Amino acid sequence: MVVVVVAEHDNPEGQRCPVCGNLNEAATGMSGVEAPREGDASICLYCGALCVFNADGTIRQTTEEETARMLADPMVARILETIPRLHEEKNT
Ligand SMILES: [Zn+2]
Repeated sequence: MVVVVVAEHDNPEGQRCPVCGNLNEAATGMSGVEAPREGDASICLYCGALCVFNADGTIRQTTEEETARMLADPMVARILETIPRLHEEKNT
């Protein structure tokens, strides 16, 4: 259910993160290969923005209700905590 957008080259068209503008070109499920579905969470690995997939596969920023619901998922919370550490490790 939770899907993370990552910067890879599975989808050369990709789409821009609505928060940081970086191009996200692939998505993967947290428990295996999964295509994103409407309402799935999208987490930008550049900036950590929590977004949501639309029915057409594009992403948009979450509503307050969606944000609260997604942050209640321990997996989402853990990923969001991990992203800043990934950037720290990359920069050291
Ligand atoms: Zn972003």
